[in-house]
Amino acid sequence: MAKIFCIANQKGGVGKTTTCVNLAAGLARIGQRVLLVDLDPQGNATMGSGVDKRALVLSVYDVLLGEATVAEAAVQAEACGYHVLGANRELAGAEIELVGLDQREQRLKQALAAVAADYDFVLIDCPPSLSLLTLNGLCAANGVIVPMQCEYFALEGVSDLVNTIKQVRANLNRELKVIGLLRVMFDARTMLQKQVSDQLFEHFGDEVFQTVIPRNVRLAEAPSYGLPGVVFDPSAKGSKAFVEFAREMVERIQAI
Ligand code: ADP
Ligand code: MG
Repeated sequence: MAKIFCIANQKGGVGKTTTCVNLAAGLARIGQRVLLVDLDPQGNATMGSGVDKRALVLSVYDVLLGEATVAEAAVQAEACGYHVLGANRELAGAEIELVGLDQREQRLKQALAAVAADYDFVLIDCPPSLSLLTLNGLCAANGVIVPMQCEYFALEGVSDLVNTIKQVRANLNRELKVIGLLRVMFDARTMLQKQVSDQLFEHFGDEVFQTVIPRNVRLAEAPSYGLPGVVFDPSAKGSKAFVEFAREMVERIQAI
């Protein structure tokens, strides 16, 4: 049975997509069967996996509207070792089209149920907002992975997200939990980052992942080659950290 995780944070540019594609590639490297679901109309996770969003015949949009199954719409990310249920701008329209449909927050969950036996992990890349798309992600998931930068207002942002998750748990998905906070783009030389990191442990304890993802230019370069850093340059510091994170995730899910 696949474990399903949302990569979420309502802030943009915090490393959600980078985390999603590199965790997917890291998990694939250590032998896990992975489906990446792109729920962001920008389609960055799709492109970052080497799948051309403009050439998609079927996408997550068709799945949400009930016009295709996940098995029909998912494609192999050739170089990466995982499958992608892709997104493109068409998905922006789903927001409005979903409103009139039955069980509009549960459509992704229902669609993923059919492929639960085909994967070990399903990773959902969420857009930076609490939209109906993100709600579909949160309703489908067993847990949420929150990438965050250790900056001054980061704790506030995380508290907002944790409250949102509590509300979703109370109303829509009783299983949902925060699996962990992942420190990304970390620069150990910065005093402030270390202080915020310490505060994180004080507030969230075990919910902070042990693995830290360093700021690493190879991770930022990789998307322009249509590859996750883990595939583009496996020897880069950031790539190694993501493979390490994949191992930590495999360990953590034993406890879920
Ligand atoms: P989001 O999906 O939350 O909007 P992205 O994953 O697209 O965020 O990351 C935002 C920017 O930061 C991108 O240009 C990405 O390449 C860069 N980036 C993300 N993680 C790292 C990292 N660990 N080191 C260096 N650059 C990073
Ligand atoms: Mg993104």
